[in-house]
Amino acid sequence: MSEERKRALQGIAAEALGHLAWLQDAGVREIPTHGAAPRPVRQSRPGPHPAAPGPEPLSRSALGGSPGGEGAALPSRGLGPLPSEAPVGVRSASAFRPSGLNDKGCGSPPLLAIRQELGECTRCKLSGGRTTLVFGVGNPHAELMFVGEGPGADEDVQGEPFVGKAGQLLTRMIEAMGYRREQVYIANVVKCRPPGNRNPEPDEIEACEPFLRRQIEAVGPKVIVALGKFAAHTLLRTAIPITKLRGTWSTYAGVKLMPTFHPAYLLRSPDEKAKAWADLQLVMAELGKRPPR
Ligand code: URA
Repeated sequence: MSEERKRALQGIAAEALGHLAWLQDAGVREIPTHGAAPRPVRQSRPGPHPAAPGPEPLSRSALGGSPGGEGAALPSRGLGPLPSEAPVGVRSASAFRPSGLNDKGCGSPPLLAIRQELGECTRCKLSGGRTTLVFGVGNPHAELMFVGEGPGADEDVQGEPFVGKAGQLLTRMIEAMGYRREQVYIANVVKCRPPGNRNPEPDEIEACEPFLRRQIEAVGPKVIVALGKFAAHTLLRTAIPITKLRGTWSTYAGVKLMPTFHPAYLLRSPDEKAKAWADLQLVMAELGKRPPR
């Protein structure tokens, strides 16, 4: 077997294990297969688990396979060349780099225009402390968009939303829903890191939110998932606790919005993963992704 093929297989295995870890933590205990009895999810990781809300079968799509497809419940990319980072239609970095700006998340002319208008933004005081303006990442025509709070230290350096520990968990959540990270679009309420990871302040949100709104219009998702209290409160103009908001549909800029827990909160409170997974299953159902029965 060639080294390249070996690496591809290792990547697939790592992805599949990531899916299983998320689903197991979320309380899923069984994986139904076509024509075979459900198999229990292997207890591959030590440590405490949240109380399972009863055995929940797991759809094929939740493992990353094609939603309606037959065959092994492994990611559908196969053993061919590894997918390029950018989805179809995304401009190469060189389309923007010459001017020195971070071009991630600018894969369509409208998104690029918004990014160009932002430029080296100094509309609020967050600009003074940032390393990189974190515009967004992903498919410029995604049907599913995630909105978080604001960049943390890792995102500030790498110029991409959700690349730290919470981001790794978000990626697992996305993959468990049957998407690859590059198939969805990810952005934040504010595009520059608040110092010390404090919450963004009202003037900072006011300066940044119009750009997020235009990004949402440009992407045109069918569903937005608001990650955490802060994103949900900002987008929905409410102070209702996230524990009450989550799991219930709302609307932002005419788009269906599902609030759920922030991945950083889920890292601190793994027992809440089952609730977040229930919210994501509602989103999957809305998008025709065959949630578990
Ligand atoms: N938390 C967020 O809300 N956004 C990020 O991009 C990273 C962490």
